[in-house]
Amino acid sequence: MSDVDVDLDLSKDQIEIKAWAREFAEKEIRPVAAEYDETEKVPWDLINKAAKAGFFGYPYPEEYGGLGLTSILTKCVILEELAWGCAGVADIIGATHLAGTPMMKMGSPEQLKKWISIISNSDKANLAAYCLTEPEAGSDVANMRTSMRRDGDEYVINGRKCFITNGGIAEVYFVFATHDRSLRHKGISAFIIPAGTPGLSAGKKEKKLGTRCAHTGDVIFEDVRVPIENRFSEEGKGFLGAMRALEEARVTMAATALGVAQAAFDYALAYSKERKTFGQPIAKHQAIAFMLADMATQIAAARALTWQAARVADSGAPLNQIASMAKIMASDVAVKVTTDAVQIFGGYGYIRDYPVEKLMRDAKIKQIYEGTNQIQRTVIAKELIGRD
Ligand SMILES: Cc1cc2nc3c(=O)[nH]c(=O)nc-3n(C[C@H](O)[C@H](O)[C@H](O)COP(=O)(O)OP(=O)(O)OC[C@H]3O[C@@H](n4cnc5c(N)ncnc54)[C@H](O)[C@@H]3O)c2cc1C
Repeated sequence: MSDVDVDLDLSKDQIEIKAWAREFAEKEIRPVAAEYDETEKVPWDLINKAAKAGFFGYPYPEEYGGLGLTSILTKCVILEELAWGCAGVADIIGATHLAGTPMMKMGSPEQLKKWISIISNSDKANLAAYCLTEPEAGSDVANMRTSMRRDGDEYVINGRKCFITNGGIAEVYFVFATHDRSLRHKGISAFIIPAGTPGLSAGKKEKKLGTRCAHTGDVIFEDVRVPIENRFSEEGKGFLGAMRALEEARVTMAATALGVAQAAFDYALAYSKERKTFGQPIAKHQAIAFMLADMATQIAAARALTWQAARVADSGAPLNQIASMAKIMASDVAVKVTTDAVQIFGGYGYIRDYPVEKLMRDAKIKQIYEGTNQIQRTVIAKELIGRD
């Protein structure tokens, strides 16, 4: 995408914000991305620098310690650039926003002052984790087992969440639990549980195909006592309240998929101009040139849909259908473009000394988490055909 196209779509402020995020990605994230992919360790120094720079606090109002950049389009622009640097780093930050978004939707001013100011802290990174998925409740999330029981002025939470980004290393856990499984989504409430609460512990850390610097793991709740003021919804309304937050998250997740695709395209374009076969750069072979043209076209189309979805989100209009469309399209494009980038690099593309195989591994998760692409298609189909 050329700057001219971006200029047409973004405000002057957003163009400056994009440059701010690109500079951080280029100078701070890219140089260490391969190392942390290899070691599968959380890049704490980098994450703390990101907090200092404002990448954790920017989407929250200033009264809660943020920078007040509340537009979803702005968030898309920032997250795309961070994911261009490294998708795992973008996930560590994005998962914290994933917990912060429903907090903003459902929290009282007192709750927000207390909890958002923790995750928007800029002295050091305070990660948050969004704890929804369970072993038997992924796509079928209303099938959750994690239970809540009222006991005086407290709730007692028991259960196990799995595949939780930042699970086990977060300061703040945004947790969904049910008081009656038979009520499905109508039994679900949302709570904040701070790290260190007795009974809250980290389970196994997953070994992953991609986004390997992001910590993904189980979170276990054994008779965890939570004061009533930590409930972020009316009892039984936690899931519905979180829906809009999840829809917004699909749009920003689409933006991170674009960042991965754009990075792969940039590497492939540069390499195709350098690498010579049969006496000329491979970019001069029509098969490669057309592949590059298709990759650029797919990225531009996915970005246009994602930014349109972001504008719908910013307007407050219904978002369900277009958010799912953007998530499907951007993630499918990321998988296709990164796979083609590996192809353009030839044998070198398959070797870990070169950057594109990491991008191909990082892209795959975009089709799976925050609602698989099959589930997104069921959402779109229901909107088109009707729910009856
Ligand atoms: C790296 C990573 C990070 C994650 N981070 C988080 C996080 O921070 N917080 C969190 O709560 N969760 C997180 N998740 C969980 C993720 O959102 C779930 O894995 C995802 O929603 C799919 O659920 P599942 O794995 O149980 O798959 P399943 O629901 O078992 O699905 C298996 C397959 O069946 C298909 N399928 C299921 N139902 C239908 C249907 N009705 N129609 C058509 N196809 C269907 C799915 O599309 C999929 O292909 C993460 C997962 C990973 C791998």
